[in-house]
Amino acid sequence: MRFCPSCRNWVAGRPVYCSNCGRTWNYRICPRGHLNPPDANYCSTCGSLDLSSCSGMEPWFSRLAGFVSKTLPKVILIGFTVLILLNLSQRSFENLVGFVIVVGILVIGYSLLPRGIKRVLGWVWVMGRKRINSRGQNARR
Ligand SMILES: [Zn+2]
Ligand SMILES: [Zn+2]
Repeated sequence: MRFCPSCRNWVAGRPVYCSNCGRTWNYRICPRGHLNPPDANYCSTCGSLDLSSCSGMEPWFSRLAGFVSKTLPKVILIGFTVLILLNLSQRSFENLVGFVIVVGILVIGYSLLPRGIKRVLGWVWVMGRKRINSRGQNARR
């Protein structure tokens, strides 16, 4: 779902162009698909004059809807996996509820983080994995 601030319609999926008014979100886009700022008159990559009209920045609730529709299947999948694991280890239902709440808070917290912090976290994750990998190789030697 994507909300177009220009024609005030919800469009299904995550389309590049609004199916009601043909405008784009956040960028003006040329026929070759290059992204340009909303105040651009020409495409900065290919010089095309034929830029799409921009309906403005995508509103936060529209971005949230996109985020939820993207992450919800993963959360459900993780939830089911946890459910099965908990059933296998025969733990109590309270543990499951607590775990779901913790995962929910983590997911929401992560979605609220600014992009810069996400990049740092991603970098830390990659570095940590590299370190684990190199440790594994040392152990094999
Ligand atoms: Zn529209
Ligand atoms: Zn272009």
